[in-house]
Amino acid sequence: MRKRRVILLGATGSIGDSALKVARDIPDRMEITAMAAGRQADKLAAAANEFRPGTLCLADPAGLPELRARLEYRPRILSGTDGLLEIARSPEADMVLVAIVGTQGLRPALAALESGKDLAVASKEILVMAGEIVMDAARRHQRMVLPVDSEHNAIFQCLEGRPPESVRRLVLTASGGPFRETPSALLAGVTPDQALRHPTWNMGPKITVDSATLFNKGLEMIEARWLFDVPMDRVDVVVHPQSIVHSMVEFIDSSVLAQLSHSDMCFPIQYAVTWPDRVPNSLRPLDFPALGRLEFSAPRTGDFPALNLAREAGQTGGTLPAVLNAANEIAVAAFLEGKTRFPGIWECVAAVMAAHRTIPHALLPEILDADAWARTEAAQYLTQHAQL
Ligand code: MG
Repeated sequence: MRKRRVILLGATGSIGDSALKVARDIPDRMEITAMAAGRQADKLAAAANEFRPGTLCLADPAGLPELRARLEYRPRILSGTDGLLEIARSPEADMVLVAIVGTQGLRPALAALESGKDLAVASKEILVMAGEIVMDAARRHQRMVLPVDSEHNAIFQCLEGRPPESVRRLVLTASGGPFRETPSALLAGVTPDQALRHPTWNMGPKITVDSATLFNKGLEMIEARWLFDVPMDRVDVVVHPQSIVHSMVEFIDSSVLAQLSHSDMCFPIQYAVTWPDRVPNSLRPLDFPALGRLEFSAPRTGDFPALNLAREAGQTGGTLPAVLNAANEIAVAAFLEGKTRFPGIWECVAAVMAAHRTIPHALLPEILDADAWARTEAAQYLTQHAQL
């Protein structure tokens, strides 16, 4: 039985919380050798005092005095963007779990693969922005990219290494978000408070709004395209409000495999860490009679344009997925600050995508340039189209 030595980037976020739970639950299989966080010095110190990793990184140097004061032992302490890269390269581990919100995780993810470690990827931005580059780096360094997102982890479990030629389509399930049944005429009046109430998953604010617009599912379509090397027209979405079936694979013989469990991120994190083994844990199994029914329906692509925008971005590839991602991030922040209406999010993304000149098979600097361009462009669009 192999014990995974894991570097956890994003230790204080919601995926970080779940990763620590898994480490507590299966200590014989998972050891955390290093941890990084953005700015929550107190929370990072508490986690570090419990797991005693040899290296810590706090991206925001302003919190370093507090981190040092709260630590009950003396680990190596790094800081800033360089610190994140250094920690991802540090030799005392064989896996890096990247769960940093936003685009900050991209370079550390590549550094992990380049330094010979497997990459467990929870941050969507990594594969959305640079899926082609990341998967290519994994092939060159003969390392695994293990998906931690529940949908992709489900597909990974169903595929178990079968080649893309045996797959007819990947079917991502979507909860449909809090506005699954909201009439289209009422979507314009949705408030941030309403958008932050997710029916089945408990997550951070950015991803919760993404679940409400369905941009979360759109980003996942693009991720799936790269992770499993399947063209965009073979990636489908079905609405499944119970969030029990986490995704499915339809094979060329029309058989479908699905992965089911309660909606708890500990499931995909554990499988990424213990793969290819399955090990017992304290997670609650499914009780089918208690579940009663599982429902499926088609997504309302007319009322939620995010899915078609993502399909277009994934099909075009190059710099366009990074542009979609960056514009969406800016628009979501504006919505949460009350600076744009709910439909303003996808209107902004569509406008920025339409204004972009895609560079095909882009290199990392071109992708980062496109990301920066899209942020500026989105901010300008939102100022010009302020709708309150
Ligand atoms: Mg997901």
